[in-house]
Amino acid sequence: MPGHVIGVDIGTTATKAVVFDLRGRIVAHASVGYPLFTPTPATAEQDPDEIYRAVIAALRDAVRGARVASDDVACVAFSAAMHSVIAVDNEGNALTRSITWADNRAARQAERIRAQHDGMAIYRRTGTPIHPMSPLVKLAWLKDEQAPIFNAAARFIGIKEFVFHRLFDRYVVDHSIASATGLLNLEKLDWDEEALAVAGVTRERLSTLVPTTHHIEGLDRQLAADIGLSTATPFVVGANDGALSNVGVDAIRPGDVAVTIGTSGAMRTVVERPVTDPRGRTFCYALTDRHWVIGGPVNNGGIIFRWVRDEIAASETETAKRLGIDPYEVLTRIAERVVPGCEGLIFHPYLTGERAPMWNPDLRGSFFGLAMHHRKEHMIRAVLEGVIYNVYSILPAMEELIGRVQAIKATGGFARSGLWRQMMADVFDREVIVPESFESSCLGAAVLGLYALGHVDSLEVIAGMVGATHRHTPIAQNVAVYSQLIPIFLAIPGKLDEEYRKIAAFQRGG
Ligand code: ADP
Repeated sequence: MPGHVIGVDIGTTATKAVVFDLRGRIVAHASVGYPLFTPTPATAEQDPDEIYRAVIAALRDAVRGARVASDDVACVAFSAAMHSVIAVDNEGNALTRSITWADNRAARQAERIRAQHDGMAIYRRTGTPIHPMSPLVKLAWLKDEQAPIFNAAARFIGIKEFVFHRLFDRYVVDHSIASATGLLNLEKLDWDEEALAVAGVTRERLSTLVPTTHHIEGLDRQLAADIGLSTATPFVVGANDGALSNVGVDAIRPGDVAVTIGTSGAMRTVVERPVTDPRGRTFCYALTDRHWVIGGPVNNGGIIFRWVRDEIAASETETAKRLGIDPYEVLTRIAERVVPGCEGLIFHPYLTGERAPMWNPDLRGSFFGLAMHHRKEHMIRAVLEGVIYNVYSILPAMEELIGRVQAIKATGGFARSGLWRQMMADVFDREVIVPESFESSCLGAAVLGLYALGHVDSLEVIAGMVGATHRHTPIAQNVAVYSQLIPIFLAIPGKLDEEYRKIAAFQRGG
């Protein structure tokens, strides 16, 4: 049996390739970045050809760095960002850039589909909320606003399909990426005819559906030699990055929840059957036929702390930089001077609208409870608490669906701060464990690859591959404070629907 496995994650900022040994230890890794084009505030596109080249370069750099023999690699397995759409012609040339999850140009189509069609019923069959991020909605937008391209396109594919087509001249889409298009019927594991009709496409214009364990051999000889692999090395199609990240941080058992707070954030857990929320608050995506990932994404994660750093605490940030200290560390130290609960100051971090659990782009931020005893340090701590309250607001929906959550596996840039990690344990009133999670989606892909090829019996082998770097238990006194403030935090957005709509319209200038 070969001694190595490679996980590749096609992300929004870079493609990463990691060579692991069979115990999950990193032998070598490489990352090749690319830009996100944002010519208008609502546009967020990438160049698919550039991403294909980045995949090859990252693979080559990782394989060379690891100095592994080409026959000592069990497989290359893939993770990719969800929700991308590329229109291609008959020859496979891109007619559009890759329209990413972050692109909001389809906002009007999302509203229309919700109003004119039964958006809730489509969500309940497909697991993807009706939102501009969803490929279903993006296709409706292309049809409305870019008709010549929409009509000329032979197919509409995601970024991983684009890469696999370049590699093997085949259009395949795994159930996991497909389940995040809004077009896949989760129960039937087949395209949903009604959703296709709403998007305005037929199944002939989409890729062939395959399980996430599907693998293809027969890499081009010259390409294989260039990368340092064999033409016989299996390429496992793999799954989406969110689902694989749960595998990579060992959050795949019932009751285990993974919470990521990087620039944005997400809460995810694994269940055995597709599960959707009667109130539409959560997504449901496939991982394997026996593992489904449910959860919610939030826009307002660490980006809000970055906003504080750059816009509110510019002078503290300058001083930190002069002293050669990370500004985030200076700001968390300032926040530490304030007691949990900020003496009654609550911050709603909806600076970019919000996805889960309310899926309302018009939500806006606010400080609530300001009084004369509050100083700037209260406001800084309130922001950190508000980001945690916001992620916490998904938990009730999750617990209605899966029962009591036992422990939180926490990852992302926020986990560099001890204060922020303890705050999560106290707000959630659950143990918070920070796994050793270097490129968790790559590790998850690698484990899925080993499973796909029968080298391991189940995904649960991950438990022996990931340790923990920090553990935080809730502090009763702090839990008591937060349990008084959380209901106030949660109640406010529900009361301001009309006012959020008006202020957002005002800001848009209409
Ligand atoms: P991405 O999601 O883009 O990969 P990261 O996971 O690195 O990014 O998260 C970046 C965020 O993490 C920053 O916006 C900031 O909020 C937070 N962060 C980074 N470093 C620290 C730190 N030392 N202390 C607290 N928060 C931090």
